[in-house]
Amino acid sequence: MRLRRLVTAAGIAALAAPLTGIPAQAAPAPDGLRLLVTHQSLLATHEWYVQTFAGHDVLGSFYARHVDRKTGRVSVADGRVEVGGLDAAATPRVGAEAARAAASGPALSTEVAVLPGKSAKLVYAVLTDGDAGARRTIVDAVSGSVLKVESPIKHVDGTGQVFSPNPVADLQAQALTDQRDQNRAVPDVAYHRVTLSNLDGSGSLSGDFSRNVDPRGRQARSATNTFVYLRESDFFEQVMSYWGQTEAQKYIQRLGFTDVNNEPQEIKTTGFPDDNSFYDPSVDRITMGTGGVDDAEDAEVIWHEYGHAIQDAQVPNFGDSIEAGSIGEAFGDWWAMIMSAPLQRDTAITPLACIADWDSVSYTSDEPHCLRRTDTDLTYADRIGQVHFDGQIWSRALNDVFRALGRDRSATIVLESQFSFTPTITMAAAAQVTVDTAQALFGAADAATVRAAFQARGII
Ligand SMILES: [Zn+2]
Repeated sequence: MRLRRLVTAAGIAALAAPLTGIPAQAAPAPDGLRLLVTHQSLLATHEWYVQTFAGHDVLGSFYARHVDRKTGRVSVADGRVEVGGLDAAATPRVGAEAARAAASGPALSTEVAVLPGKSAKLVYAVLTDGDAGARRTIVDAVSGSVLKVESPIKHVDGTGQVFSPNPVADLQAQALTDQRDQNRAVPDVAYHRVTLSNLDGSGSLSGDFSRNVDPRGRQARSATNTFVYLRESDFFEQVMSYWGQTEAQKYIQRLGFTDVNNEPQEIKTTGFPDDNSFYDPSVDRITMGTGGVDDAEDAEVIWHEYGHAIQDAQVPNFGDSIEAGSIGEAFGDWWAMIMSAPLQRDTAITPLACIADWDSVSYTSDEPHCLRRTDTDLTYADRIGQVHFDGQIWSRALNDVFRALGRDRSATIVLESQFSFTPTITMAAAAQVTVDTAQALFGAADAATVRAAFQARGII
């Protein structure tokens, strides 16, 4: 085993200072580094190293040495990290084969490495290949347990153009109509440029939280990740879907949840001509219909379907009874409202409680045009055994919680409580879970607020 010692702090400081006029050879790279690559640019030579400890690469470290061609001046970018408490003589206790077995998929490479930190660890870094790209599994070389799984895929931001959340709510314009998907039906001011984050860099609308699964020849593609289209283009709905799903998941994660449908949710926006959209739990896929206003032109419809995906991710086969199914539809509507809340004005013309204002211009004549509302006065006694109708009882209760506690707190309570629902839960039982969750998360005052919302609907 090759034993190496890290350079001292003094050594690092001396090296980091510019060494004007001194030939490059006078300032060699410090010990404890392994040269990865040398690049020649117009002005300098660039040496890239990885930090080593006892001959093993230290994960996440870097060290670069830039030598000016003309002056020999050396500048350093020092990204070395702490390796604490690790014996330089340590050796793996589990074999490479066991490490590969702990990772999933065919292994591309297996290397002993050092996971840095105050108490650093000797590990195997196992690179495997898979449908979602390569993965690096870090396996403890002493215990054999998987410490973490990383995706080496680079995440890129792109640019997109979307309706936000839809032209009717955005422009306060109830008179807009579809006009057979023509561009001229919607004024330019309804289009917004947005950042499309978390793209996987493949040039398609796929990334950490959303994956377009339209047939290959019908997928938007851009080498520069620029996805700017008007509504006539089928690609516009794909951009809406990617943006809508990605922003929803980012919001969920901002609330602290790392395991609520945290995956590239599959979504398809062409080929289904009905004026309807659906989430299919058997394949975990959302399909957006194109009848009337293309459903994916209205972010609130995307968010409703994403709501189903959320619940199915939290409770397998959620919604297997009329009451649970009603809760499912209600949550989708409410989730659409929660996502729209920061994007649209809540006015008498376009109330926030009115869901899918744009999609619904094709099949409603009353104004405001709404698929459904989350502010009806329906109570538990008004149930008719139809999930979309009965759901309005539940969504009104959730709306009251939102009004009283605000967006973040209400969303946190609702998402957390849904983890403890069952596929066939009753409204009364689900309400009690939600009250208990509010109590556990935020205390008695919030629990009382939540209870009052459900009591007002006659649910408890
Ligand atoms: Zn639904």
